[in-house]
Amino acid sequence: MPTVKFEAGRDFAQAMTAADPLAAYRDRFHIPKTSAGSDCVYLCGHSLGLQPKSARACVEQELQEWARLGVEGHFHARNPWMPYHELLTAPTARLVGALPSEVVVMNSLTVNLHLMMVSFYRPTPSRNKIVIESSAFPSDQYAVQSQISFHGYDPAASLLEIAPRFGDTAIRTEDIETLIAEKGQQIALVLLGGVNYYTGQAFDCSRITEAAQAQGCVVGFDMAHAAGNLQLQLHDWGVDFAVWCSYKYLNGGPGCVAGCFVHERHARNQELPRFAGWWGHDKSSRFQMPSRFQPIAGAEGWQLSNPSILSMAALRASMEIFDEATIARLRAKSETLTSYLEFLLAQEECENFSILTPRDPSQRGAQLSLQLKKGGRGICERLAQRGIICDWREPDILRVAPVPLYNSFLDAHTFADKCLVEMKA
Ligand SMILES: *Cc1c(COP(=O)(O)O)cnc(C)c1O
Repeated sequence: MPTVKFEAGRDFAQAMTAADPLAAYRDRFHIPKTSAGSDCVYLCGHSLGLQPKSARACVEQELQEWARLGVEGHFHARNPWMPYHELLTAPTARLVGALPSEVVVMNSLTVNLHLMMVSFYRPTPSRNKIVIESSAFPSDQYAVQSQISFHGYDPAASLLEIAPRFGDTAIRTEDIETLIAEKGQQIALVLLGGVNYYTGQAFDCSRITEAAQAQGCVVGFDMAHAAGNLQLQLHDWGVDFAVWCSYKYLNGGPGCVAGCFVHERHARNQELPRFAGWWGHDKSSRFQMPSRFQPIAGAEGWQLSNPSILSMAALRASMEIFDEATIARLRAKSETLTSYLEFLLAQEECENFSILTPRDPSQRGAQLSLQLKKGGRGICERLAQRGIICDWREPDILRVAPVPLYNSFLDAHTFADKCLVEMKA
């Protein structure tokens, strides 16, 4: 809907909300309340997505099955726990643009990142470098540094961090391509966030994958801020692997089981080293407990343990909503909603902040990162006192996520209004 001509007044926000075909989904979520009992303006879906109202029944069903059946629930629950994760396979594949055999829900994000690097970071003396963004999420930085050290290399030499040009806030795709063209033969792995958590920049995964694979590099993406936010095509882009968590835009609840994608070209590659566990073993013989590991072909072969059923139950509730709403429609609303918020923030002359996130809607998701010149964390705290929940990152970033599933155009308007007042105070 980029043809919409935005207007600044609150009646316009009201009209946009009334015309929003996805507006009713808001009612499917618990919206946190202010102390006065009204809905908060919750703009923190990039950190912890809200609870679908249907999650409770899904979790309670498994609690009941556990009470009713004990261990028998593995095979005789209404949704038997043994293959329970398979209930999430098809919706997950649809969401990230993958074949069902390419995805699995397991572990947590950083664990999956390590498991993928065990298999796909294969450094040699001549090719041992990893490319990441300079402002990659700390857990990813620690993970890659420790993998480099684990293999006996020096992170100071083997880690290539790519940063925006001086004066730019986003990394240019051409700069990534140039780095890969120049150093490609030394690069073992290119590992970027699909969306950078700090700036909100969405990377051109397709172009980056093509450039890296042309140099013989492996390409992985951390989709923590992209899954449930952007329309991903992991299979068609040909990325080697991807990982994401399920508690941000996917609304699976705190610490929810995470996601993992392994391209089908690797599905049956028995040469890849991997850390194995019984849940990755061939399903037909798993319970005969053979001593030799025979991995399931596809992403499921990287599973280690029997997973948390209660956590997957909550995630099922959310994935049902994604299947109904569809990521295509959510993304269309999201582009309009984020652009509208950007428009509102530009309405008044305000010197106190600038927006770090790219202006081009194709280079961002449901997030704007505001860089403040003064006021700092206090602004975020005062907004919270007024029931407006956003996220603060030191030293000076206010991250705001208007999430298309449960945020309205009125939310964007209320935020912009109150935020501009605080900024000028
Ligand atoms: C949220 C996030 C994490 C958090 O990792 P967990 O293992 O889920 O605690 C890691 N990396 C990125 C890029 C994230 O956005």
